[in-house]
Order: sequence, then C-alpha cells, then structure tokens
Amino acid sequence: MKSYKVVKSGEPLEEQQIDKPSPSGKEILIKTISCGVCHTDIHIHDGYFDLGDETHIPSRVTENLAMGHEVFGEVVEIGEQVTNIKIGKKYVVYPWIGCGNCNECQNDMEHYCSPFTSENIGVSVDGGYGEYVLVKDAKYLFDAGDTPEELAGSYACRGLTAYSALKKAEIMDDESIVIISAGGMGLLALKIAQAAYNVKTIVVDIDDEKLDVAKKAGANNVINSKSENASEEIIKLSGGKVTKIIDFVGSQNSMSFGYGLFGINKGGLYVLVGLIGGNFNLQLPLHTFTARTIKGAYVGSLKEMGELMELVRSGKIEPIEVEARPASQASDTLSDLKSGHIKGLVCLKH
Ligand SMILES: [Zn+2]
Ligand SMILES: [Zn+2]
Repeated sequence: MKSYKVVKSGEPLEEQQIDKPSPSGKEILIKTISCGVCHTDIHIHDGYFDLGDETHIPSRVTENLAMGHEVFGEVVEIGEQVTNIKIGKKYVVYPWIGCGNCNECQNDMEHYCSPFTSENIGVSVDGGYGEYVLVKDAKYLFDAGDTPEELAGSYACRGLTAYSALKKAEIMDDESIVIISAGGMGLLALKIAQAAYNVKTIVVDIDDEKLDVAKKAGANNVINSKSENASEEIIKLSGGKVTKIIDFVGSQNSMSFGYGLFGINKGGLYVLVGLIGGNFNLQLPLHTFTARTIKGAYVGSLKEMGELMELVRSGKIEPIEVEARPASQASDTLSDLKSGHIKGLVCLKH
C-alpha cells in the first residue's frame, strides 16, 4: 500500500510502499476514501507546538508516521471477533483512541488518555495519509448518512472539536456568540451551531475572503478584527456585552483581541480551541473580580462523537464545501495550509 509519511520533522512527506496491515481479533481494516487535512497536522509535521517566548512542546511521534486523523473509508477486512460490521460499508473513524486501561479510558474520556499511552490515529499510530487504516474496535466507526465523502472525515476532528467546544460554551437560547476564525473549523462550528442551537453568530477573522465565505455560510455577522472599531462593533452586535467567545485560532493575537472584548463586564466565558500557539498575558485581578472562565477544549469524547454523528445523519447540519486533492499532493497541501492559502476545508483522496 502507498503511504505518505513524515520521515523527518518539517521535511516534505515521503511516499512509501509498505505492507498493508492485517486485522485480527476485534480489529477492522479500513480502505481510506478521503482524509481531511487538519491544522493540527501542521504541528505534528513541525514536530512541536509553540508555547511562546521561543519555548516548544514536542509532538510525541515525529518520524515515520502517516498522519491523517480525519478518516472516512470502507471496511475491507475484519478480525475474527468482529460480528456487527459488514465488508463494503463506509464509516467515519473516531481517531481519539486511548490505552483502554486508565481511569479516563474507563470513563468515556479516551480522548483524555495520556499522550504517552494513547493510540490516536494519525497522531500516534498511522492514519489516513496511508491507503489503509487499522482500527482497534468497531465502536470507533460511525455511519455518516448522506454526508459527501470529502466532508465526512472532517467530523472526526474539526467537527467534533467544534461540537464539543459549543457544548463547553453552555449556549443559552437566543444568545450571541463570537466565533474567532472563519477557517475550516470556524465554518464547521458555524454550521453545527445553526443546527443545534438558537444562537446569533458573530464570526471574526483577519481575512476578508474567509469572512465572505462565513457570511455566505450563514453567519449573522462577520467582522474583520483588523478593521477600525472592530471591538466596538462586536460589542454592539452582541447587545452591548460579549459573554461567550470560542477561539479556533488560539494565538497570542486572537486571544488578546478576544479576551479584550469582555471589557470590564463580569462572567465572560472563553473557550480556547485553536493551537496556533504563543502565550497570553492575563491581568489577574481583572480576571478574578470579573469572575471569568477560560476553558481549554481538546477534541471530544466518543459519546459526543455519537451525538454529533446523529445530528449529521439527521441532515440538520448543512454540508460545507471541501476541496479534494489526490493523496500524492499531501506534502504540498500541508504547505498550502500552513501558508494560509486554503480558504475552507481540504481533504486528500486515495
Ligand atoms: Zn484535527
Ligand atoms: Zn487510557
């Protein structure tokens, strides 16, 4: 089978011809149809996450890894203990797989399993940049209904993360929320928010082209944070007070801007999702006497994946367009994503 692998951090991916895995026991072999290219792949490929002030935290696996954690594919072989899965059926793969033994894994929080023991697909073990992906158990497979096959895999990471972040924002009826980023995850969050909540959305970005896409995708308002009076405008659109922000960028700039929107009002809730990196200067008394919350959001649980996929199958989430490229362009696609040349979602097709 063909696999496009990270051989050295930051270097172009290498096309390798490797043995196709063979499933045994409860395992299932999936032939990758499409695999989303998520922003996190850039950090895995770089080999580190940026903590600001020139400090880094390394990725766990930085060599000989087929990335790709947004896998949609077809069952081609099953282990002898698999009974409820049919060959030929297509599924989205939940990639946030834990060790199965720790406290988190035993309590439906596999995605919180330690980075040293987890077996996340495309992060710790080979993923959808390869032609075939081995999945440990049928419980990680989800029917995507009529979802276009280019989009389906995106629900396993960006969609799930957006869904889980929206839940963390504890959205109330008819509330305004600020979504920072009109990129892939911002758009998915917008569509999921429209399907699951009665909410007014204000999408913020620094790229007018991306904001146009968000406006067309149904955002109630879009604001370029670089424009003059951007903060005042957002506060006005929020009815005089910003209370909920979901930040899918997660950079020093996005958070300084976003957190600043709270002003001196009390009770703001900031859900931090993006991993662009850097650090943020928190003025402690201001945070304390305004009784604010900053929540980190990392992907979502298997249970949340079930809830999201039910919403997906119901047809309530309007599909967004995804650019499809051949898997052989994996390396260039990563570079394009890194340089900001991709306006929406992109996937690789095998
Ligand atoms: Zn991802
Ligand atoms: Zn575990």
